Amino acid sequence: MNTPVRHAPNDFFPVVENELQVGGMPLSRLAERVGGTPFYAYDRRLISERVARLRAALPKEIHLHYAIKANPMPAVVQHLAGLVDGFDVASGGELKTVLDTVMSPGQISFAGPGKSERELRQAIAAGIVINIESPRELERIAAIASATGTRPQVAVRVNPDFELKSSGMKMGGGPKQFGIDAERVPDVLAHMRALPVEFYGFHIFSGSQNLKAEAIMEAQRNTLDLARRLAEHAPAPVRLLNLGGGFGIPYFPGEQPLDLAEVGEHLAGLMPDARRDFPQAEFVIELGRYLVGEAGVYVSRVVDQKESRGQVFLVTDGGLHHHLAASGNFGQVVRKNYPVVVGNRVEPDGEVLSASAVGPLCTPLDLLGDRMNLGHAQVGDLIVVFQSGAYGLTASPTAFLGHPVPVEVLV
Ligand SMILES: *Cc1c(COP(=O)(O)O)cnc(C)c1O
Repeated sequence: MNTPVRHAPNDFFPVVENELQVGGMPLSRLAERVGGTPFYAYDRRLISERVARLRAALPKEIHLHYAIKANPMPAVVQHLAGLVDGFDVASGGELKTVLDTVMSPGQISFAGPGKSERELRQAIAAGIVINIESPRELERIAAIASATGTRPQVAVRVNPDFELKSSGMKMGGGPKQFGIDAERVPDVLAHMRALPVEFYGFHIFSGSQNLKAEAIMEAQRNTLDLARRLAEHAPAPVRLLNLGGGFGIPYFPGEQPLDLAEVGEHLAGLMPDARRDFPQAEFVIELGRYLVGEAGVYVSRVVDQKESRGQVFLVTDGGLHHHLAASGNFGQVVRKNYPVVVGNRVEPDGEVLSASAVGPLCTPLDLLGDRMNLGHAQVGDLIVVFQSGAYGLTASPTAFLGHPVPVEVLV
C-alpha cells in the first residue's frame, strides 16, 4: 500500500478540545476579537522562542539580523527589535519601519539593486550601512557624500563564485542581478580608496529557503574563504562580515526541518580561524522566514460548500489575493499544498474526507488547498494555513479583484 507523504506535524500551535489555540486562545475567539475573517495572526511567543533557539545553537559571536521583507508588519518588527542584533532592509519603506524602532542605525544595512537617489540620500542621512550592488551605485553614493559632506559606511555585496546548493531560491553564483561578481570586487575595492566612503565589509548572500544543513555549512565555509581572498584587496579592515542566511522552513509534504544544531556546531568550528583572520569583524547571519514564517497563520472562513463532479470545494473568504505563496503562485514550479487544517474542528468526528479550499477570485489559480483532508468542514468553519508568517500579505496582489485587505495581528 502507498502511504501518502505527509506534512511535518504542527508543533507550534496547541490543539485543545479539537480547536487550534493561537496566541493562547481558541481560534474562534481570536476571530471574534479580530472582528472578522480573513486575517493573519503572528504569535510573539513563537518568534521569541525561535530567536532563543538560534542563540542557543549558533556561536555566541554570531550577530543575528532580521531581513524584514519576510514580514514587515510594524508590530512584528518592533517585537524583533528587542530580540535580534540588527535589521536588513531593501527599500526606503522598510528603512522607515526599522528607523521607527530602537535599533541603532549602525546595526541596519540596506541591500537591493536599483536603489533610488532618494533612498540613497535617506540611507546616508540615517547613518546606516549601505550594501553596494554595482560600481555605478558606489559612484552615486560617493557623489552624494561629496555634496553633503558625509562619509557613508559601505559594504560590498558580493555575487559569489559558488552557489548555495539545493536552495529554494538561488541568489548568488552565475550571472545575477544581485551584488558585484566576486572576480570584479578587487578593482572596485581599489577604486574605493579614492572615494569619500568608509569601507565597512562584505555581504555575501548565496540563497534562500534551504533545508539541508550540509548545503548551508558548505556555503558558510565557502563564504569565509571568499571573504579572506577579497579582504586582501580591502582599503580598510573588515568590520562587518555578513555570511548570508538561507535557513529554510518546511512547507510541503515530506519536508523536514533544518538541523539547526548541526549548522551551529559546524559554524562554531569555523569561528576560531574566522576571528583570527577578521579580528575587527562583526559576523552576521541574516534571516527572514526562519524567524517568523512558522509563527504565523492565515485564517479564512468557509462561506460556501459545493460539489462538482465528485470533488468537494470549500469556498472561503480568503485566497491568493492575500496569500499568493499558499496558492502556489509565488515561485513554485510544481504546485504543492501548504499545511492546511480546519481550525475550529481539527480532526473529523468520522471518516476523513477530501475537499479543496478555494478563494472567491474568478481564477482557477485561487486555490489554498488542493484535495486535502478538509472534507469535514462546514460553512462557517475556519480554514487555517500554517507557515504563513513570512511572504504572506506583503507578497500578495491585494488589489486583484478589489476585495478588502485582511487584518494582521500580533498576538
Ligand atoms: C530575501 C532576503 C533575505 C531573507 O530570505 P529568507 O529566505 O526569508 O531568510 C535575506 N537576505 C537577503 C539579501 C534577501 O534578499
